[in-house]
Order: sequence, then C-alpha cells, then structure tokens
Amino acid sequence: MRLGRSILLAAARSGRLNDLALHSAFVKRATRAFMPGEHGDDALEAGGAIAASGRGLIFTQLGEAIISAEAAVAVRDHYIRLFDQIRMMELPAQISVKPTQLGLDLSPDECERHLLALAAKAEQTGSALWLDMEDSRYVDRTLELYVALKRNYPSTGIALQAYLHRTPEDLSRLMPLEPVIRLVKGAYDEPSGLAFEKKSDTDRAYYALASQMLDGARTGICSPVFGTHDLALIARIVEQARASGVEKDNYQIHMLYGIRDSAQRRLVAEGHIVKTLVSYGAAWYRWYMRRLAERPANVLFVVKSLFG
Ligand SMILES: Cc1cc2nc3c(=O)[nH]c(=O)nc-3n(C[C@H](O)[C@H](O)[C@H](O)COP(=O)(O)OP(=O)(O)OC[C@H]3O[C@@H](n4cnc5c(N)ncnc54)[C@H](O)[C@@H]3O)c2cc1C
Repeated sequence: MRLGRSILLAAARSGRLNDLALHSAFVKRATRAFMPGEHGDDALEAGGAIAASGRGLIFTQLGEAIISAEAAVAVRDHYIRLFDQIRMMELPAQISVKPTQLGLDLSPDECERHLLALAAKAEQTGSALWLDMEDSRYVDRTLELYVALKRNYPSTGIALQAYLHRTPEDLSRLMPLEPVIRLVKGAYDEPSGLAFEKKSDTDRAYYALASQMLDGARTGICSPVFGTHDLALIARIVEQARASGVEKDNYQIHMLYGIRDSAQRRLVAEGHIVKTLVSYGAAWYRWYMRRLAERPANVLFVVKSLFG
C-alpha cells in the first residue's frame, strides 16, 4: 500500500507523464470523478448544486509552482474575478490558494502583495481566503504569509498537516492569533525525519491536534475546520466536541468534491457545517496523482474509464 502511494507520488513529479496525461482523453475523463471540469464556470455550475444541498463551497484553481511573474498576476486576477462571480451568484463560497501558484518561489514579497489583494477582495465580497499547505519546504514561508494576512484580514484561514512532526508546535504558535485552521492529514511524500511514516501515527496526531483545536474553540480563540474523509475520526472528533461543550456551529467539516458525497449530505442533515472543496483547471495532473495516491484503489477508476 505504502509502495503504491510512493510510486504514485513519484509519478506526480514526472514532467513526461504530466504531458502524456494532459493529452490523454481517457485520463481526462477519469478526473471527472474528482473535478467538475477545467474552467471556473464548470466549478461555479457544480457549486450551485452543492450549495442547494446545504453545503458551503471552497473553490481552488489547480496549479502550483508557476514560473513567471506574469503567470502569478494572471492567477491573482483570475481569483479576483472569481470572488466577483461568487458574489453575483450569491454562492456561499470561499477560495483556497497555493502560495507557489502566486509566485512564492519567484518573489515572496510579490506573492504576499498578491495574497493581500485577494484577502482584501475576499473581505469586500463577504467571502474568505484560505492558504493551502504545500510540501514541507514551504511550511515556514506559508506560516509567515498567514501571520501577515491574518493581522489585516481576520477571516483568512490556513491548512496545517497532521503528518508533520512540527505541527503541534506550529499550532501552539498560531493560537495567539485566534487562527482559522483547516486540519488535514497531509498529501505529499515527505522524508521520515519530518513526517510520520505510518498512517496510524498520523491518525493519532490528527486526533490530538483536533482536540487542541476544539479546546481553542471552547475558549473562543480558534475556528477549527476538520478537512478529512475519515469518518471514524470525524465521529470521534464530533463526540469530543459534544463532550466538551463545543457547539456544532463552532467547527466545520470540509471534504473534497466527489469523495464521500453521501457522508457529506448526512453530516449536513445532522446539523454540521460542511463545505465541499471544488478543484478545477487545466493543470490537474499533479493534484490528480495525489488523489490516486490517497487511495490506490482509485487507479481502478482510470482503468475502468479506459473502457468507457
Ligand atoms: C478540504 C480539504 C483540503 C485539503 N487541503 C490540503 C492541503 O492544503 N495540503 C495538503 O497537504 N493536503 C490537503 N488535503 C488532502 C489531505 O491532506 C489528505 O491527503 C486527504 O484528505 C486524504 O486523507 P483523509 O483525511 O481523507 O484520510 P484517509 O485516511 O486517507 O482516508 C479516509 C477514507 O476516506 C476515503 N478517501 C480518502 N481519500 C480518498 C480519495 N482520494 N478517493 C476516494 N476516497 C478517498 C477512503 O475511503 C478512506 O478510507 C485536503 C483535504 C481536504 C478534504
């Protein structure tokens, strides 16, 4: 299982496979299980149906580590337009971005300016901005960006990854900022010195961090979001929230488009705040390989779609 995950994550980094997949009609068809299409309009259309089922939305355009300042500006402008469309359509939607997509590798200062512009637009349109967490090389810089954004735009959120050994310390350091945190397990192939190798260790770490976040919610200093499809873990967290007196509207559960859809609806029916993260865009290859790596059985989807 772990070998399958490593192979898929290694394939995610291959430029050659990227090119092959982007031109393959059958791989493209297989991605539809996890993304409604390549354009913002596809995401907005799918978002309308999800919102009608009582769920909120997070939109993200796929793409990471862009290689020119112009490309970063284009990404920023795309999201600025998307915030306007969200408001026009009155969708209960927010936007999540990867700092490298806004040029973090090229110029941290310019990236920060783009993010500040997006957070300002989010506030002006009654929405909110999220920072995704990328691989461990970017954690320090992403946390620094978050501190700068959060001071000016309090609704801004950030993802933290439970598989990293450093995360309990990062969480404690963020607490004085009254953070909005989406806790995820972590999707990248990290060295064992930095991240847990065994899934059971990551799951244990996730629960411990979730408990700390719920403590913060009880005292009003943390807005926790649990970004996971692990239903057993969610059940334990919900029970922990109930036992410690944290109301359902003081935490949220976020899942990805196309995964555990019926569980998402059930959680809404049980009174939870649920949001679905909808990804779209032409640069889907690396992101799609990470989805396959999370559940190598998903490779079957690809094989099945080969036969129509
Ligand atoms: C809203 C959201 C935002 C995220 N943002 C980030 C981020 O910023 N940075 C980051 O590193 N990672 C991010 N992730 C990905 C995350 O780190 C995990 O890789 C991913 O969520 C799979 O882990 P899991 O918590 O669902 O638990 P797992 O234990 O992996 O899965 C639990 C169960 O959910 C189902 N499941 C999980 N994944 C899939 C899948 N791909 N296809 C079908 N079924 C599946 C399976 O039945 C599995 O048994 C995000 C995830 C979510 C839900």
